[in-house]
Amino acid sequence: MNVLIVAERQGGALRKATLNALSAGRLLAAKTGGELHVALLGHRLGGLVEELRAFGGKTLHVVDAPPLEHALAEPYAEAVATLAKGAGATWIGGAATAFGKDLLPRVAARLGAGMASDVLRFEGEGEAIHPVRPMWAGDVVAEVEIVTALKVFTLRATEFPAANKAEAPAEVRAVQVELSGRPRTRFLESRPVKNARPELTEARVVVAGGRGMKGNFEPLERLADELGAAVGASRVAVDNGWIANDFQVGQTGKIVAPDLYIAAGISGAVQHVAGMKGSRVIVAINNNPDAPIFQYADYGLVGDASKVLPELREAIKASK
Ligand SMILES: Cc1cc2nc3c(=O)[nH]c(=O)nc-3n(C[C@H](O)[C@H](O)[C@H](O)COP(=O)(O)OP(=O)(O)OC[C@H]3O[C@@H](n4cnc5c(N)ncnc54)[C@H](O)[C@@H]3O)c2cc1C
Repeated sequence: MNVLIVAERQGGALRKATLNALSAGRLLAAKTGGELHVALLGHRLGGLVEELRAFGGKTLHVVDAPPLEHALAEPYAEAVATLAKGAGATWIGGAATAFGKDLLPRVAARLGAGMASDVLRFEGEGEAIHPVRPMWAGDVVAEVEIVTALKVFTLRATEFPAANKAEAPAEVRAVQVELSGRPRTRFLESRPVKNARPELTEARVVVAGGRGMKGNFEPLERLADELGAAVGASRVAVDNGWIANDFQVGQTGKIVAPDLYIAAGISGAVQHVAGMKGSRVIVAINNNPDAPIFQYADYGLVGDASKVLPELREAIKASK
């Protein structure tokens, strides 16, 4: 039972989540006893093919065609479904990024496949592999069985390590895919958010603020810049218009798992924790010693965030 992982590009680069998906694909292929195949779609892919094949797998299937220049889910789903058949893939998946969440359910529909979203790990072997996925903001973890012959999945990238380069690169197979009909969606323009800080889901350090920041994120942003960190926020901070919703962490925001997550003025509601509990080290700053966030924190600081954050920044600066 072969596994097909769909790679994701961002501009001319590979998304970091693709490396996590590749290591998940390797683990899954070891369980199925099949081969790992990788799919790369786009147009004018340049050096990406060489970059991606270095991470191994049996075959890297490349579809380079003008209709795939922009990551539109509709033509991509058609191409991935065709590739999956060519690769003899039983398990077809990718990272649960915005791209993966848009694309893979459409692939499942095209293939008549059952699907598991946001998979944390795979239990079992051979014919009896069961994806494990969170439900109800992570309060429940369910082991599910996909009963169809073909199985589609998205992966929670933060649950899998980034793949290292392989000893042997994948063989590259250029594939021509006939895309049928006229797509019902077309690309108009892309307006990427300009942010000098690292991308939230890929940052090694995240400094996040909540209601306790009382509308002033400046001390938090200054600490983030001292640490080369991304800025995150609770939903309350977003709903109050203190920060754009791209920065929301949690069940209805982004899932992050940095090496260090600093939560300032955040109570630790289950919906927020669902998005950051995989962080390696959690530091909580809160003026209420009974705030639930302290139950998840490795280090806790009881105090007023507007005072503690500048002090922390000064101390870090002095230690450099
Ligand atoms: C379906 C659903 C989905 C949701 N999705 C998300 C989500 O994705 N992400 C998310 O974050 N929330 C989400 N929520 C909202 C969530 O339930 C909480 O309401 C929210 O996380 C609380 O944000 P907060 O911690 O900033 O605010 P609060 O819970 O009000 O906590 C503020 C904290 O700041 C502390 N504080 C106050 N003043 C200071 C100070 N001067 N210094 C230090 N600390 C101070 C307080 O002691 C308190 O602990 C969702 C809710 C629902 C129902």
